Amino acid sequence: MNIIETNLTFGPLNKRESTKRMILHHVAALKCTVYDVHRWHKSYGWAGIGYHFFVSKDGKIYQGRPIDTVGSHAAGHNSDSIGICFEGNFEEEEMPEAQKAAGKEIVEYVKELYGITKIQKHSDVNSTACPGKNFPFKEISEARLDTSKKIRYSSHVQTYGWQSEKKNGETSGTTGQSKRLEALVINSPDANLRYKGHIQTFGDTPWMTNGFVCGTIGLGKRLEAVWIECDKPITYRVHVEDKGWMPWVTNGQMAGTTGKGLRLEAIEIKFA
Ligand SMILES: [Zn+2]
Repeated sequence: MNIIETNLTFGPLNKRESTKRMILHHVAALKCTVYDVHRWHKSYGWAGIGYHFFVSKDGKIYQGRPIDTVGSHAAGHNSDSIGICFEGNFEEEEMPEAQKAAGKEIVEYVKELYGITKIQKHSDVNSTACPGKNFPFKEISEARLDTSKKIRYSSHVQTYGWQSEKKNGETSGTTGQSKRLEALVINSPDANLRYKGHIQTFGDTPWMTNGFVCGTIGLGKRLEAVWIECDKPITYRVHVEDKGWMPWVTNGQMAGTTGKGLRLEAIEIKFA
């Protein structure tokens, strides 16, 4: 998914302290851009566009108000919600397929980002027709994207312990801090994943599947190499002591070193 950076300038904004739900809107105009909405909202004396995301009819997703700030889109309901607005007037028209697909993507993205499942129509919380009687609310709010495209992983780092879960090519571990990776867990439920590691002193681990801990905890041993295999193309790379990021490797190839006493410090994993 691609969120288009808009570089809008805002007046003073407040950080949002909690995020419990999404509220969906239409802009109630047949044709407009995120920049139009930003200008309109500024003309009301607001800091700028009140929605956090804007989905255009051609299926593009634009960044509105910064995602971690309090929006201005549903009176009395802004303090714990993310506002997503769709170009169009769904009292009068039907949503194009491209826009529907983009709507599902951004909704799924926000669900995942904040671990929330509560989604409301603007009309659920305020007296308004928004987002319009033809708005495909059920389809968008119940969106489930193809989880087979996702891979998640966490690493156990010297001193720090388990790090928060990363996904799809994000960096897990540290760089520039001289901390060893001690263990790794990888999850991709639909991909028939297998992985193994090479541990200081102990050597190669057995191959393991989804969710198993590869490595050691509390023994002060570094992971030196990992191998990952799966039924579809996967690519990964590791950050190694004294060497930095090593080249990307693919299914079943070794990432890292053995016999050199060099620790892994970080890893990135994604489907090719
Ligand atoms: Zn609305």
